[in-house]
Amino acid sequence: MALALSVRFRKTFGEFSLDVAWEAENGIVVLFGPSGAGKSLTFQVLAGLVTPEEGRVQLGDTLLFDREAGVNLPPRERAVGYLFQHHALFPHMSAEENIRFAHPVPRSAEAGAEAEALLRRFHLQGLARQHPRALSGGQRQRVALARALMRKPRWLLLDEPLSAVDLALRRSIRAELKQLQRSLAIPMVLVTHDLGEAFAMADYLVIYEGGRVTQAGSPEEILRNPENSVIAEWAGNARVHGGRVFSF
Ligand code: ADP
Ligand code: MG
Repeated sequence: MALALSVRFRKTFGEFSLDVAWEAENGIVVLFGPSGAGKSLTFQVLAGLVTPEEGRVQLGDTLLFDREAGVNLPPRERAVGYLFQHHALFPHMSAEENIRFAHPVPRSAEAGAEAEALLRRFHLQGLARQHPRALSGGQRQRVALARALMRKPRWLLLDEPLSAVDLALRRSIRAELKQLQRSLAIPMVLVTHDLGEAFAMADYLVIYEGGRVTQAGSPEEILRNPENSVIAEWAGNARVHGGRVFSF
């Protein structure tokens, strides 16, 4: 069976060059790295919004991009559920309408039932009729996530999905996201610059720095032998605090 995701490409944006390669089994892949490392640009390449100079991107058995073979699927054929870092909800529509709108037939009873289930899943029941301006950042993010799921994607790209979620809700949403991935059994790639979150979520962790992948592996492998000083320090502290690195 093919790997869930196989990614290799090079793309230059003026001064910035992105040259990365990683692959992962089905599960949750976390791209971790500081701001400006190239994580969001990677998502744009995966989604087909940006075309790299060379490389190859494969999702399961589907070739999405292959420079040499001349393959470059347009974004709509990549069946991706993409949550942008700065998510854009339709301002003139309520939360529920925003979610319904992602359905092929927004006014159908089926769309209504699915929207309702998604609102429940993301603790938004009471906010269905609110417009985005009346929602907190975290609530908007959850609406955007629900909307991404409405299209029944084959895979999910979530760019910093929890950065605007209040601390109190973050743990439960993390658990929900994990459960969601397990129940849908589709690849989920998640970007974060929060190391605790990276280790809490990842089945496979890819460390980005300056447009390069400096290390990739399971969280356990990376903790055992961190090549990045920030992670080494964090791992050291985590051990000092009783070695319970997966609970924080
Ligand atoms: P991250 O998501 O890891 O914080 P980004 O992928 O957004 O980082 O950006 C990586 C680098 O690429 C940054 O230095 C950014 O300024 C630059 N960049 C992003 N988009 C473009 C663009 N369209 N043209 C030129 N440079 C860009
Ligand atoms: Mg980003």
